[in-house]
Amino acid sequence: MLTNRQLFQLHMGLPSMVNDPIEIVQAKGIYLIDSEGNKHIDLVSGVAVSNVGHLHPRVVDAIKKQLDDYMHVMVYGKFVHSPQVKLAAKLAENLPKSLNAVYFVNSGSEAIEGALKLAKRLTNRAELVHFRNAYHGGTAGALSLLGNETMKNAFRPLVPSTRMLDFNDFSQISQITSKTAAVIIEPIQAEAGIILPKQGYLQALRERCNQMGCILIFDEIQMGFGRTGKLFAFENFGVIPDIICLAKAMGGGMPIGAFISSKENMMAFTHNPELGHITTFGGHPVSCAASLAALELILEENLVTKADQNGKLFEEALLPHPAIKEIRRAGLMLGVEVAESIEIDQLMKAFKKNKLVVDQFLFHEKAFRIAPPLTISENEIRESIHLVIKSLDQVLNT
Ligand code: PLP
Repeated sequence: MLTNRQLFQLHMGLPSMVNDPIEIVQAKGIYLIDSEGNKHIDLVSGVAVSNVGHLHPRVVDAIKKQLDDYMHVMVYGKFVHSPQVKLAAKLAENLPKSLNAVYFVNSGSEAIEGALKLAKRLTNRAELVHFRNAYHGGTAGALSLLGNETMKNAFRPLVPSTRMLDFNDFSQISQITSKTAAVIIEPIQAEAGIILPKQGYLQALRERCNQMGCILIFDEIQMGFGRTGKLFAFENFGVIPDIICLAKAMGGGMPIGAFISSKENMMAFTHNPELGHITTFGGHPVSCAASLAALELILEENLVTKADQNGKLFEEALLPHPAIKEIRRAGLMLGVEVAESIEIDQLMKAFKKNKLVVDQFLFHEKAFRIAPPLTISENEIRESIHLVIKSLDQVLNT
């Protein structure tokens, strides 16, 4: 009989070649257990998904409870589903008044697609402004807004009328005009290596969008749900978008996404044409139940404040290390840039050997990310820091 690893190599569609993948048999809290019984510390959270840790009992209970009642019954928007409406109301309660209508989808990419359609429908314009080194997802619309030519050239033609600006460059804001339907931006760029906006930059974008009558979309798919030390990243900057896109940590480990705008804006999908955006599984009752439990946990256990405190612990412990050049941080999301002399591939091997799950960024060759579950304890932070430093030492001394 073939092993699971052999089946992986033979039958899985994969986006890259992976040598010696870890086979997961269980995940709990910040730990991943492999098929040989090894315990790995998860410093990535499935790329910013497991903010409440793996298999949190409250999320598991909510899922089980919903499974006793119903799973899928009818496509989104036809029936009242209590998990959907409760979650939508809880999100609205924690967002500004102008973001009070939630359209549920299944993933981040889908949230982006819905947001782009809504912006086009509201403005009756085509141009989409996006940013260098941004990542918004793998579907055709989201891919058209990818801030990296090499990764999208093979898939052209993509969505036309896109315009790419340099993040944080005030001088290019004038390229947003009355032809622009939407400006889509990650308020903190994630895959670029955790790049924070300059003072006043998001405000300037907001003002320009107001002047030109275009829609400002914030992609908080990676940075939302407490990761940055606020429930939503935009709260760090006092700028409110017209549409916010969410996913990843939203489901507490289950797949779900959403784009959120005002009820008035959202009504545009109901006419000219009716059924302006539809989805079969968007807002799946089980995912919504899990999502509500995760959101309540984040709020009740004050994980938002802890994210910043715990992020600081990592930053202060790692920054003095000679292998580290710079740390860019938003809450408990760290972009750790290593010194020129450090071979990042070797460092990633050292992390793996020391049973740390650490990840690189799509668009930064010399940095790695630290983004553990927000539920990480002080002891677990100490253990993680010890192993990160051990790995850095090993690479520095080779
Ligand atoms: N936007 C950002 C900022 C992301 O980081 C991602 C995924 O990594 C996406 C959008 C796409 O989300 P999904 O993979 O759920 O389609």
